[in-house]
Amino acid sequence: MIYLDYSATTPVGFEVLDTYNRTSKDFFGNPNSLHELGVKAKNLMNSATKQIAEIFNVQDSEITYTSGATQSNNLALLGVALQNYKKGKHIIVSKLEHPSIYAICDYLASIGYEISYVKNDNEGLIDFEDLKSLIRPDTILVSFCAVNSETGVRQPLKMIRQIIKKENPNTIIHSDMTQAVGKVSVNLHDVDLATFTGHKIYGPKGIGVLYKSCSINVIPILYGSGKSNMLNPGTPALPLIVSLSKAVRLATTDLEKRERFIERLNLKIVDALSKYEGIMINKTKYSIPHILNISLRNIKAETFLHALEEYEIYVSSNTACSSGDLSSSVLAIYDDKVRASSTLRISLSHLTTTDEVNKFIEYFIQVYKRLSGLNSNI
Ligand code: PLP
Repeated sequence: MIYLDYSATTPVGFEVLDTYNRTSKDFFGNPNSLHELGVKAKNLMNSATKQIAEIFNVQDSEITYTSGATQSNNLALLGVALQNYKKGKHIIVSKLEHPSIYAICDYLASIGYEISYVKNDNEGLIDFEDLKSLIRPDTILVSFCAVNSETGVRQPLKMIRQIIKKENPNTIIHSDMTQAVGKVSVNLHDVDLATFTGHKIYGPKGIGVLYKSCSINVIPILYGSGKSNMLNPGTPALPLIVSLSKAVRLATTDLEKRERFIERLNLKIVDALSKYEGIMINKTKYSIPHILNISLRNIKAETFLHALEEYEIYVSSNTACSSGDLSSSVLAIYDDKVRASSTLRISLSHLTTTDEVNKFIEYFIQVYKRLSGLNSNI
C-alpha cells in the first residue's frame, strides 16, 4: 500500500495508541468525580492539558477539547456570533476555507448574519486591500485557514492580524489551523481562536482543540454538567485527551527537518508529473510541501483515483472537500473552471519513503497514459 492521503487523516502513532490504551485501563475514573479515582483522572487530564498549553505557549484554561475540527470551527464561529450579536452581525471569511466553515456561515446567514468572502490573489494569499475594505465597525469576526486543505497555501497570520486589528481592534480573529499544526510552526498568539484536530497529527480520531484566548468570550453551543470544560461540557474523554497530548508533542518535534525531507519528495513528484501537458501543478510559492494539488485535463479525478486504488495507492480527489464537482480552492486561486473541475490532492508525510514516491510516480504515469489514451480514443 502507498498511502498519500495524510491530509485526509493520518494513521495513529504507536506510542499514541499505547497511551490511549493505558489511560483507558489505568485511569477509567471520571475526572468530574470527587473521589480518589476521579482526582487521579483529573490530575492526569490537567497535566496533558498543561503539556499542550506549554507547546503552544498559551494558558491551560485557553484549551477546550472538542470532537474534532468541525466542532471547533462551529463552536468558534457560532460562539463568537452569539456572544457579539449586539455589537454587530458582520463576519468575513476567505474563499479558501474547509466546508465546515462555509456550512456554519450558511447557517449564520440564515439567522441574519452577513457574511463577506474576502478575495485572494493568484498565489492564494488573502488580498490585504480587499480585507481592509471589508472590515467595518460591525465586523465581529474574521476567520481564515492557516493552511488551505486543498492546495497547501499558507497565510501570513501575523500580517493579517495587524491589518484586521488596525482597522477594527474589536474584531475577533479565528484561524482553522487543522492543516498547519504538525506540519509547520504556528503561533496561537497571532489569533484569538484556533482550531486543530487529533487525527491529522497521528493522534486519535474524535478529538480536537479549540484554543480561545482568555481575552475574549464565546457563548457555548452545548450545555450540560462538568466544570472542567465550560465550552464543551460532559465527561471529558480522558484517553483521547491524554493521547492527543502525546500526539501533539510528537507531531511538533523536528518540524523543519521533516519539512525539508517532504519538500524533496514533493519536488520529485512535481518534476516527474509536470512533463505531461495534461497535468497542471496547482502549487504557488506559498504552498507547503506536504500538500500537492494537481489538475488533470480531460480525465475525471475520481476515475483516476480509483485507477490508482487498483495498485493500492491512495490519494484524494476534489470531491471530498469542495462544493459540487469543482475544487473551490483551485477555483479561488486560478479562476479557471476547467482547472478546478478535476483535481487530485497528493499529501505527504515524514513517514512517506523515497521508494514509495518512486513507485507512486511509476504507477501514476502508467495510469495517466492509459486513461489519457482511452480518452483520446473516445
Ligand atoms: N478544517 C480543515 C482545514 C480540514 O482539512 C478538515 C478535515 O479535512 C476539517 C476542518 C474537519 O476536521 P474533522 O474531521 O476533525 O472534523
